Amino acid sequence: MPDCRDEAAALNGLRRRKHKPEVRAGLLGESSAVLLLLGFVCLLWLLVLISLQQLVISSPGHFNALRARKHLEQITSVGPRTVGSPENEITTVNYLLDQIEQIRTESKTGPHSITVDVQRPTGSFSIDFLGGFTSYYDRVTNIAVKLEPKTKAQHFMLANCHFDSVANSPGASDDAVSCSVMLEVLHSLANLSTPLKHGVVFLFNGAEENILQASHGFITQHPWAQQVRAFVNLEAAGVGGKEVVFQTGPENPWLVQAYVRAAVHPFASVVGQEVFQSGVIPSDTDFRIYRDFGNIPGIDLAFIENGFIYHTKYDTPERIHTDSIQRAGDNILSVLKHLLMSDELADSSAYRHGNMVFFDLLGVTVVAYPARVGTIINYMAAVATVIYLGKKCMLTSNAASYNDVIISL
Ligand SMILES: [Zn+2]
Repeated sequence: MPDCRDEAAALNGLRRRKHKPEVRAGLLGESSAVLLLLGFVCLLWLLVLISLQQLVISSPGHFNALRARKHLEQITSVGPRTVGSPENEITTVNYLLDQIEQIRTESKTGPHSITVDVQRPTGSFSIDFLGGFTSYYDRVTNIAVKLEPKTKAQHFMLANCHFDSVANSPGASDDAVSCSVMLEVLHSLANLSTPLKHGVVFLFNGAEENILQASHGFITQHPWAQQVRAFVNLEAAGVGGKEVVFQTGPENPWLVQAYVRAAVHPFASVVGQEVFQSGVIPSDTDFRIYRDFGNIPGIDLAFIENGFIYHTKYDTPERIHTDSIQRAGDNILSVLKHLLMSDELADSSAYRHGNMVFFDLLGVTVVAYPARVGTIINYMAAVATVIYLGKKCMLTSNAASYNDVIISL
């Protein structure tokens, strides 16, 4: 038989438990807040330090942003370079040919050969852009530069930039800086002491802004196009800052993997790809031409900072930091070197299938995984959310019925 004193004690205990324990104020003490703030500032300082260390100008023999900067200043010094103007067709073409010839002469004794071809294609194509239209072009300019081992190569990467600009802009970021980076990457690769496995075609195209014509002329008419297996396109949607990988594919996950593995300062976002390929942004790049008319996969990179001065007279060389050039050059050079030694380039169809999810973490590193893994993660997150909410509902209803028991007691 239970003791009535025990019963009374138990009852008192239950009644005491009915009162919630006193919760201490959620506000942090002053010292804790100061410590948290200091920790945050230290973390920011550390991140800035890491990114600055990554951008230190490298030693001779590597990518040299100061040399690339000189090219940028020379190319933009003539002002706007609209297609058909003497500035675009004569002055800039002569400057580029002169620089390429200097690199060729300098690297003559190395393990690679350089061949230059100036192409003036005429043609037309229909494009499903801005509501769809047909574009006709007549003798636009392409400077194609082939670098390959002296023993010859079967498979080639294509690196593309355009040196023309819109009518009212010196086009420093769009896209003279990319052509300057490509000249310096060509210089670095030509001066390697060991031969690469595959070759690379550098295409300095002279008609992108009205619209995507020179790249079409190259990929549909130039004999070297048959040997191109993949491409890297250097573009701008802003002025300066970091260059971001905002489109890859179609499919061919090995290209994203190569970028993630090889880029010295990787920065990429699959969100950009989703937005850009949805057609929301009324802009396009040579990426579309190589994908749709050349059926080759690629990586599309663009400078994205200060988008509000893109295609304006304010797109000047002073607005592009030398660090930005160094960063872009380090990335392009390392990714090209990696791809030019890879097995995938020789037989890309074998590695074709699959898409990738990719994004950067605080600008320090890039995470990439197959899209099917992403689907699994999404399903798991959805199931975990349902289980969690279900448990929470059950606990709430249990607690309510428990309180009812207490109150009735
Ligand atoms: Zn452009």
